[in-house]
Amino acid sequence: MKRIGLIVLLCAVVMLGWSQPKYVFYFIGDGMGPNNVMAAQMYLSELQGKIGVERLTMTTLPFTGQLSTFSTSNGITDSSAAGTCLATGTKTNNGTLGLDEEGNPVTTIAEKLHKAGWAVGLTTSVSIDHATPAAFYAHVAKRNMYYQIGTQLPESGFEFFGGASFYEPTDKNDPDAPNVYNLCRDNGYEFAHGYKDAQNKLDSKRLILIQEGEGEDITEAGWAQIPYAINRKPNDLTLAQITETAIKFLEQKSDRFFLMVEGGAIDWANHSQDGATSIREVIDFDESIQIAYAFYKEHPDETLIVITADHETGGMALGNSNYTLNLQLLQNQKCSSNMLSDMLHEKMSGEKKASWEEVKELLREQLSLYEKVEVTKEEDQKLQATYKKMLKGKAGDIKTLYKSINKLSGKAVALLNQKSKLGWTSYSHTAAPVPIYAIGVGAENFTGWKDNSEIAPLIEKIALP
Ligand SMILES: [Zn+2]
Repeated sequence: MKRIGLIVLLCAVVMLGWSQPKYVFYFIGDGMGPNNVMAAQMYLSELQGKIGVERLTMTTLPFTGQLSTFSTSNGITDSSAAGTCLATGTKTNNGTLGLDEEGNPVTTIAEKLHKAGWAVGLTTSVSIDHATPAAFYAHVAKRNMYYQIGTQLPESGFEFFGGASFYEPTDKNDPDAPNVYNLCRDNGYEFAHGYKDAQNKLDSKRLILIQEGEGEDITEAGWAQIPYAINRKPNDLTLAQITETAIKFLEQKSDRFFLMVEGGAIDWANHSQDGATSIREVIDFDESIQIAYAFYKEHPDETLIVITADHETGGMALGNSNYTLNLQLLQNQKCSSNMLSDMLHEKMSGEKKASWEEVKELLREQLSLYEKVEVTKEEDQKLQATYKKMLKGKAGDIKTLYKSINKLSGKAVALLNQKSKLGWTSYSHTAAPVPIYAIGVGAENFTGWKDNSEIAPLIEKIALP
């Protein structure tokens, strides 16, 4: 009898051992609401000439649910309170990073797993001192304390970071304070500039992968991000490349790893109400998910993939009038509204300012307005009126959280969105629920209606029982 008991116990231990993942992927689409996912799927379907849904990898995963995202200070969260909650399970006030409501540091899931011997990687398509990645390694009172956040990165000792460089690598208030790049080097980190460079540095102890050309030369404040998918040039770093490199790197460092991947620029595109850019970012985010999914297929009994978002941004609606949707029109947009804004700015700021015909040519080139996308006389007059104001320097900018877009760029892109039948309600975040998708060991826990405070504790329970 005793022997049978022992066998049962052994079997239970072995089975329990099997039910623990060795590899955990945590994907966070910043600002990615349910309609962002749906827009991308319906857009892809329309491109094939079909009404319906062309599934992204994330929506093919077997377990799905929804999350509420409110913070302790408001029904609408910001990215730092949401990131803190997704990283720790503790809700906090908007603007706070890695601390609870009372200001006490809260241990993150990445820190807990690292302490237990897991290799840890934190990656993003924006700067690595930005709210979401920072929520996994930094603890500061305000999310805009970028320098302080940066100094905490090397203290984490996490094996891998990837994304755009640092937003504020130097201390604005103290010119003698050490530069974040040097602090990282002092703590055993090596920098890789671009994908190719990273492949030669996979043997280093700790690695920070950033976009080629970025690094110490960037001292001026500018919102760092790897280029939007819609603006991408052949050698630009992509989120999928970062994910692939992170896996290769982390696999060498320990027999278990935790990798967080943030699609950070979905939020930025939504803040600008730029539908085409947002959709391409969601598709791009899904491409990085495909890398993890391929890894899962090789290690199905040892991998957990959880995909969610920190909040919704922009209040995107699929439909703005009558029963029509024409998302395929968005394929005519060749660059983000931010880039178009820069192009217009350049044309309009020199000695010789561009004529309306020249500006129209740019809109034709970049948005296919007046060409594949019809512009009515009334719409043309409105755009021209904005151009005239711009000539006098009186058009002003549309201020979004991260970057201002000049009104003409904003209005031209808004016109394309309106014709695609996309609606927007806000230049900021909303309280809309966000989706959650999961596959792998313990994935069945991530279903139904949940709050964002439940996710990190669930991952912990599954990975560190
Ligand atoms: Zn945001």
